Amino acid sequence: RQLGVALVGLGGYSAGQLAPALQQTKRCRLAGIVTGTPAKAAQWKQQYNIPDQNIYDYKTFDRIIDNPAIDIVYVVLPNALHAEYVVRAAQAGKHVICEKPLATSAADARRMIAACQKAGKQFSVGYRLHFEPHNLEMMRLGQREVFGPVRHLLADNGFRLSTPSWRVNRALSGGGPLMDMGIYCVQGCLYTKGQVPVSVTAKFIPNPDPQLFKNVEAGIDWQFQFADGATADCRTRYTENMTALLRAESPKGWAELAPAFGYGGLRGRTSQGPMNLPNLNQQATQLDDFADCILRNRPTRVPGEMGLRDVQLLEAIYRAAETGQKVSTKEVQQLIDHT
Ligand code: NAD
Repeated sequence: RQLGVALVGLGGYSAGQLAPALQQTKRCRLAGIVTGTPAKAAQWKQQYNIPDQNIYDYKTFDRIIDNPAIDIVYVVLPNALHAEYVVRAAQAGKHVICEKPLATSAADARRMIAACQKAGKQFSVGYRLHFEPHNLEMMRLGQREVFGPVRHLLADNGFRLSTPSWRVNRALSGGGPLMDMGIYCVQGCLYTKGQVPVSVTAKFIPNPDPQLFKNVEAGIDWQFQFADGATADCRTRYTENMTALLRAESPKGWAELAPAFGYGGLRGRTSQGPMNLPNLNQQATQLDDFADCILRNRPTRVPGEMGLRDVQLLEAIYRAAETGQKVSTKEVQQLIDHT
């Protein structure tokens, strides 16, 4: 049977990526929506053939507990709202996927994990690149030390943001490009190296537009240090369209994705030549894998705990930039990704 997915928040990512992906999935399908905008409800109802009883707003959402057509709730709201809706979804007895970053604080992330555990439901973070062939190849090359141990990583991700939105409102975003785009560099370095760093140093870039970037950073550079002496230099910006680079250098060769983090058009090379891997629908693959985890009762490779680990690292990066000090990440849970 196909599991029913309800999308919470019908913004750019739901409309542009997740709903189209859910037309291609085999093990799950778009069954419901949660939106605060009646016009969107009407449009989605027609476009995706969603029955009235599977349409909720933010007040009626909790009634989803009585709806057997919805198995999975997928939270696609501004970052600071993730915690509330994940907890409510778990309390309604649904399995949950939550977009990145999992939360705007580690404390929230822990509450979300606890709520899903208490409900006995699976909880996953929307890390689509764990289902993407080029990024899986970086994990394989790095974690299996195909060119020897990774000594140095480079990553960047960012875009030029020119109009105000929740992304530059700290109360909703939890921070600037680090929360939104830099998290891909964090992920990329950890899943390529296959280790959690032991410390971090970081520096904010000068703010070029204090009107637009009132209470979030415009950009930040940071370096992770790993236990074996390897380092990762990362950059994220809301002031520049960046390459979306992920590069790993080892004694016997290198591997690189450019771009590494988009929805398609990814390209990879190593010191031995081009990767020649397919681009596939990442969101459909991710969603089908999560449905399969539920149907077969097996753990997801991108659990809430991984989202918590990364929120802890984001907090450490901010602390390093604010204090100018090297910050230890010893407290960060050591959950690592496996290929
Ligand atoms: P968006 O601005 O396009 O959509 C946000 C939606 O939330 C809108 O429909 C808006 O109406 C709704 N909303 C509900 N309450 C709101 C409030 N109080 N303030 C503002 N909006 C409110 O954003 P998006 O790009 O779809 O991002 C949503 C989430 O998805 C974010 O957590 C983001 O990080 C994540 N995302 C992930 C990817 C990915 O590749 N995995 C890509 C884009 C976004």
